Amino acid sequence: MGNHLFDAIRDAARDDSVFIELTDGRTWTYREVLSFSARLAGAIASLGVQPGDRVAVQVEKSAEALVLYLACVRCGAVYLPLNPAYTLAELEYFIGDAEPRLAVVAPTAKEAVSPIAARHGAVVETLDAVGGGSLIAIADNEPNDFTDVDRDADDLAAILYTSGTTGRSKGAMLTHGNLLSNALTLRDHWWFTSADRLIHALPIFHTHGLFVATNVTLLAGASMFLLPKFDPDEILSLMARSSVLMGVPTFYTRLLQSPHLDRDAVTNMRLFVSGSAPLLAETHVEFGRRTGHAILERYGMTETNMNTSNPYDGERIAGTVGLPLPGVTVRVVDAATGKPLPPEETGMIEIKGPNVFKGYWRMPEKTAAEFTEDGFFISGDLGTIDEQGYVCIVGRGKDVVISGGYNIYPKEVELEIDRIEGVVESAVIGVAHPDFGEGVTAVVVRKPGALVDEAAVLMALGDRLARYKQPKRVMFVEELPRNTMGKVQKNVLREQYAGLFV
Ligand code: ATP
Ligand code: MG
Repeated sequence: MGNHLFDAIRDAARDDSVFIELTDGRTWTYREVLSFSARLAGAIASLGVQPGDRVAVQVEKSAEALVLYLACVRCGAVYLPLNPAYTLAELEYFIGDAEPRLAVVAPTAKEAVSPIAARHGAVVETLDAVGGGSLIAIADNEPNDFTDVDRDADDLAAILYTSGTTGRSKGAMLTHGNLLSNALTLRDHWWFTSADRLIHALPIFHTHGLFVATNVTLLAGASMFLLPKFDPDEILSLMARSSVLMGVPTFYTRLLQSPHLDRDAVTNMRLFVSGSAPLLAETHVEFGRRTGHAILERYGMTETNMNTSNPYDGERIAGTVGLPLPGVTVRVVDAATGKPLPPEETGMIEIKGPNVFKGYWRMPEKTAAEFTEDGFFISGDLGTIDEQGYVCIVGRGKDVVISGGYNIYPKEVELEIDRIEGVVESAVIGVAHPDFGEGVTAVVVRKPGALVDEAAVLMALGDRLARYKQPKRVMFVEELPRNTMGKVQKNVLREQYAGLFV
């Protein structure tokens, strides 16, 4: 039968070509990655990990950590990466929920994690940020080849927990088939070849940096600069030797702050991809003006991998997430009735295709509730599809504000606020209100030195938005709270302003 995902990766591997280049100049060839992943797979198996067992990994970003993902795939384990920023209490939730056989953590965390792991039946090994640790020591004694465990398309390759933007993180069960089909689709859709070199500055515990960036590079036999974190100066200096950057919107707003971002800086680059959070149309336009490149925005989720993408060789429309990827069906339905809506009408985005996950880990009822009878996944995102098929995300269903019985889509209000002179960006939330149920509340970031105030915002919106959509209050902040993936944390804002109208 073979190993569905890894066989494809092995077939695309290009022997002595470089797969990973680190910032200190050290490189990993495909051959080295294959043999190291074999030794690591041997180590994992020697620790008692059976096919289907989970391997939880909470470590700093490194080449070794990336190869650990491949090792898990090879030995049939279910890879479960975790944000290094999670606290011990959070870690206990994930370990208790996923019950991994093995937990790999930083050496400094071993003592604290061990009792938690012991409570849930996991052994603990370590991996540090520079490729040392107890797991590596075990792998050093393993052979350079490993008989890959048979896995078919329907077997689990990973459990990725969602970002927890709208509530507690849920474990999304992703199969070999989910990951491979989406990576092959993206490779072809974005014209990836072995000539490409990706600037990889994303975290590797999230679908964007782990699956989109890594699997696409692997399946193209391409190479990547693996950076520990996002550093605009470093990225600008690597562009001369790279061809693709994948980023979250904050990468692009921060690159735009550099005076060194211009056409000369990007002459070797062929593609800039953005996703994981909405890219402001203004950022798209400004980036195009400075560099001549239209950022390619795409839309995905932990549960579904990537769903839509602006075209590589067609029109990339700012403010949209493009067209459904080949093989993926996207529709917009009336959230109440489930009936598909005509073009341009706002409703719930639903997705079907080989990219869509198998369900939430140990949450059969939640899984059942999030799929329609005809097999579409209910994304929780609201959007529209235009006549040409371009999808536009309006926001999350959970962020809709219901005030005085009316539904208000925050994005519509935010776009109007963002147009006001002196405003950088805004977030609109619903806050409990004694008369209206929820009161529309705008949280606004001003440009440095801008004088725009609450009255000015309300005045500007006066003839642009129906009265019920207008904010009852406008609050000003230095910056919006964001998580590592650049997502605005509206739950944090809702908590912060919970008492505003009482
Ligand atoms: P949770 O499901 O735990 O609340 P989350 O949905 O933020 O967290 P992820 O799976 O990391 O967790 O993020 C997927 C979401 O990110 C999508 O549902 C969508 O709301 C948002 N998203 C991704 N790409 C884009 C994009 N290009 N434009 C707008 N939103 C995007
Ligand atoms: Mg989600």
